Parts: sequence; structure tokens; C-alpha cells
Amino acid sequence: MRVTCPHCQQKAVITSSNQLSPAVKDLYCQCMNTEQCGASFVFVLAFKHDLNPPHHSTRQLAVSLIRSLPAEERRLLQGDLFN
Ligand SMILES: [Zn+2]
Repeated sequence: MRVTCPHCQQKAVITSSNQLSPAVKDLYCQCMNTEQCGASFVFVLAFKHDLNPPHHSTRQLAVSLIRSLPAEERRLLQGDLFN
């Protein structure tokens, strides 16, 4: 992962990190432009959203949607799926 210093736009390196939750991490960074900048700062790396959910999530979603249907609707759906 490439990090650019937000102050001088030169290359920075991640010196350490702190996992805040399964989907959020603080990245402690050091600017490599030591003579003219030398800043240290924290970036946040965070999960944003799925493009395709995991297979098990799709299956669980389908099962809970089907279970929420009235019995007659489930019977009709079964007919649509298997005939
Ligand atoms: Zn810098």
C-alpha cells in the first residue's frame, strides 16, 4: 500500500498500525521527505462496502427472505424454483 504525505505529497512509509475494529485500522506514517518535511501522521484504513457479498451472506439473506414469506407464498416460490 502506498501512502503519500498530505503535507508535501512525497512518499511516506507506514511505521506501525493499530487495529481499531475488524474493519478499521489506524496507520501511523512517516514522511520520507526528511529534509523539507519530515511530518508524521495517521491515516485511517477502513472497509467501505462489498461489491459482491460473501457466498454465505447471500445464502443467509435468501433463506431469511424466504422464511419471512407467508406459507402460501413459499409454496408458490418453491414451484417457481423447481419446475
Ligand atoms: Zn511530507
